[in-house]
Amino acid sequence: MTINDSSNNGQRYVFLDRDGVINAERGTYTTSLDEWEWAPGVFEGLRKLNEAGFKVIIITNQACIAKGLQTEEGLAKLHTYMLDGIRHNGGDIFRIYHCPHQTSDGCTCRKPEPGMILQASKDYGINLSRTFMVGDSLRDMEAGRRAGTRTILIDSGPGADSVRTQFESGEFRAANLSEAVEIVINETK
Ligand SMILES: [Mg+2]
Repeated sequence: MTINDSSNNGQRYVFLDRDGVINAERGTYTTSLDEWEWAPGVFEGLRKLNEAGFKVIIITNQACIAKGLQTEEGLAKLHTYMLDGIRHNGGDIFRIYHCPHQTSDGCTCRKPEPGMILQASKDYGINLSRTFMVGDSLRDMEAGRRAGTRTILIDSGPGADSVRTQFESGEFRAANLSEAVEIVINETK
């Protein structure tokens, strides 16, 4: 193991939020294929990550399930579409963790809780201090910090202004996934 490794076995990982990073943030739930719009820079960013040897893990809140606006089956269908699109464009996603709860459920997985990241770390032996959480909201940054990851804010979408004023972590910002990936690669050399 060298100091460049981000995990016990040398495999490097990166955690990505979904809405606002992989697909465009609509300001409301994306629950069907006709609502799905790819975020800028997504295919280039994922290709670069995969070429640099990173495994990509998506960490996503989907309270639309708890609220009855989406089913597990519908989410799986959407994710099959997402994976097909990404693979067709030369990238790949290793694993997806989703939280189906809403805040009032008091679960330990809904971001800003760090539960999904901690579970992934346990499942794959990921060294969190050498791994980035990339997302477009304060919740993503907080979940990363609480889990012990490094953080990159994608500075876009309808909530960007409020996020910008609230963001206090002192870590990185990027305009889109492709820019975030440059940071991930440079910082983990
Ligand atoms: Mg998001």
